[in-house]
Amino acid sequence: MDFWFSPSEHSFREEVRSFLDEERRRGAFEPSNYTLMEAYSPSFTGKLADRGWIGLAWPKEHGGAGRSHIEQLILTEELMLAGAPVACHWLAERQVGPAIIASGTPEQQRAFLPGILKGQVTFCMGLAEPGAGSDLASLQIQAQEKANSFMVDGQKTLIMGADKAQYIFLLARTGATESRHRGLSVLLVDLRSPGITIRPLVSAYGERSFNDIFFDNVEVPRRNLLGEKNGGWLIATQQLSLDKSSIELVAICRRVLHDLTLEYIRGVREGLVGDMVIRHAMAEMSVEIEVSRWLSYRVAWMQNRGLIPEVETSTAKVFGSELTQRLANEGMKMLGLLGQLADGSGTAPMKGWLANWYLSTLGRTIGSGTSEIQRTIIAQRGLGLPR
Ligand SMILES: Cc1cc2nc3c(=O)[nH]c(=O)nc-3n(C[C@H](O)[C@H](O)[C@H](O)COP(=O)(O)OP(=O)(O)OC[C@H]3O[C@@H](n4cnc5c(N)ncnc54)[C@H](O)[C@@H]3O)c2cc1C
Repeated sequence: MDFWFSPSEHSFREEVRSFLDEERRRGAFEPSNYTLMEAYSPSFTGKLADRGWIGLAWPKEHGGAGRSHIEQLILTEELMLAGAPVACHWLAERQVGPAIIASGTPEQQRAFLPGILKGQVTFCMGLAEPGAGSDLASLQIQAQEKANSFMVDGQKTLIMGADKAQYIFLLARTGATESRHRGLSVLLVDLRSPGITIRPLVSAYGERSFNDIFFDNVEVPRRNLLGEKNGGWLIATQQLSLDKSSIELVAICRRVLHDLTLEYIRGVREGLVGDMVIRHAMAEMSVEIEVSRWLSYRVAWMQNRGLIPEVETSTAKVFGSELTQRLANEGMKMLGLLGQLADGSGTAPMKGWLANWYLSTLGRTIGSGTSEIQRTIIAQRGLGLPR
């Protein structure tokens, strides 16, 4: 067992860090707040693409850099630590692109992959519906086959980034209503198609990155069916398990703890805080962040060896997402009443970002599979407990 990075992984991290330092110095980006939902810069994305850092771990024959999953994780971790603007191309690169590589036709690969690698083709994930979240196989949205297309009717909800994306990776019912997971297909749908209405849902922390999407007799060409008709469940669930290291949660926690530490030291200097209870809570958070980080790297380490992490991704997700909530709580306690002031208030500590992040962490244990569902996976597949 080797808990350290190889010399080439170290030097890659250094390369990423110096690129980000230089970009920040040149004013290419200001570190975003901790929720990262809105952060996007086409020119910065173009620079990542020029360096081959979009699709870093994609196979070379599909235009990727063919680098390792560990290097991919290093890149993600450093981008998140720096607060870089990466929100928009993320899902296309990390989830949809690999699904198209695995299940797409050569025409689909030619149509979508080059644009994703340039950061110009963006996707959102269309899975959840008002009555189908954890029990995704019960989804209702219909895609009726007609001649050379599918006609889509129904609703998706809580879709992150749909207001900015060009396409939606849509899981829809193409089989009989009672077919459950055997009657689902994946369609790659242009969000500018006639009949689509996108309505923003304003989150508790004031961002408009979640959306309801309504489909009213939307025509989708048959060439945009990904994989087999009624074979969408496997594609969607495989895609759901991709890039589930949860390193982005850990990196944000590291960033928050770093900023809280500066805030604490500033407070001590100004005679405001010097509390042993707070110090110990911060030390405890530091221990937990370290644990969480290695749980994430274990996922990438397994992927590098061609193993399929399953219980390991659930473990990293449960620990990482719940850690965001523990850290947000500790941070809010440390900042006291002033910590509740919003971004934009002159007296808000940490620019009001912690209060904003505190609210956003509520969703962390729900999105990408709830903590209850992750624990169920760990209990059944990890511990072998009966269903
Ligand atoms: C931050 C965030 C981002 C999201 N982004 C997207 C996105 O981009 N695209 C998309 O399609 N969806 C997205 N979602 C939706 C997300 O996938 C669902 O909210 C999630 O799967 C839970 O489904 P639900 O909300 O319907 O809750 P439900 O499934 O109704 O669950 C309600 C409660 O019951 C519990 N529960 C349900 N079933 C079981 C069970 N079998 N055993 C034990 N407990 C159970 C759950 O854990 C939860 O506590 C996002 C959600 C959030 C919060």
